[in-house]
Amino acid sequence: MSLLTNKVGFVTGSGSGIGRESARVMAREGAAVVVSDINVEGGKETVEMIRGEGGEAFFIAADVSRESEIHGLIEGTLGQYGRLDFAYNNAGIAGPTKGVADYPLDEFDKVVAVNLRGVFLAMQAELAHMLPLGRGAILNTSSTFGLVGYPGCAAYVATKHAVAGLTRAAAIENSAAGIRVNAVCPGAIATPMVDEMADEISPGARQPIFDALGAAAPMGRMGRPQEIGEAAAWLVSDAASFVTGLTMTVDGGWTAQ
Ligand code: NAP
Repeated sequence: MSLLTNKVGFVTGSGSGIGRESARVMAREGAAVVVSDINVEGGKETVEMIRGEGGEAFFIAADVSRESEIHGLIEGTLGQYGRLDFAYNNAGIAGPTKGVADYPLDEFDKVVAVNLRGVFLAMQAELAHMLPLGRGAILNTSSTFGLVGYPGCAAYVATKHAVAGLTRAAAIENSAAGIRVNAVCPGAIATPMVDEMADEISPGARQPIFDALGAAAPMGRMGRPQEIGEAAAWLVSDAASFVTGLTMTVDGGWTAQ
């Protein structure tokens, strides 16, 4: 029996990067996975990958910053598979590489809408479904930048701290009702998001930036998205039955320094 046999869950932002590889790990562990993303092409590609590996997956498009689309995702999951055991609220955006003093307000609002409001809306809708059943596992993607400060990405750092806070508050509020709420805090992971950030910092300098990000961790390398997926699959599984309110770093030791 695998970690997620007979479980059904969705992963937001699973048309790329960490979400995609998490969905793949979860499907390999036996779950039926609803792949969700604003990026329809990427999401459908992930579904094809999972099906190609013999797994069960289905795509539902959703922009996590829109309440009606979150409700559509939950209703669509129930319509397709008849249940919802876990929800992984992973979708997020980086926003511009700017400090607090220079951060454009419209960009700040955009990052808050996806990274914070999106997670809040999703958790409310997930709890509304899970509380009457008295069971369920919710996982959010925060970041190592949700635990410590970092210069040059003001809204990102603020929203990821907020996700860690939301996770802890919701874990305490709902643990007696049988719902676990955790967050995974990835370090620097090689995904298209970091590609784009590297491009913005210095076009064409991807490799030196990736080398520097890798060298900053005691393990001396960047993480692979699948390494977050392995942690995510465990956190939403019954193997983590006494784990709630955790902000789990998966960062090659970066925050241990
Ligand atoms: P990614 O490769 O850019 O994947 C994110 C996916 O989310 C993309 O497919 C993106 O679509 C989608 N998305 C963006 N806005 C959305 C919205 N409003 N609703 C639904 N989906 C949306 O990024 P990633 O690196 O895998 O990041 C995944 C999560 O991990 C994020 O929360 C990120 O903050 C977090 N994280 C990443 C790292 C890292 O080093 N990579 C470290 C710590 C935390 P588009 O491509 O169309 O925008």
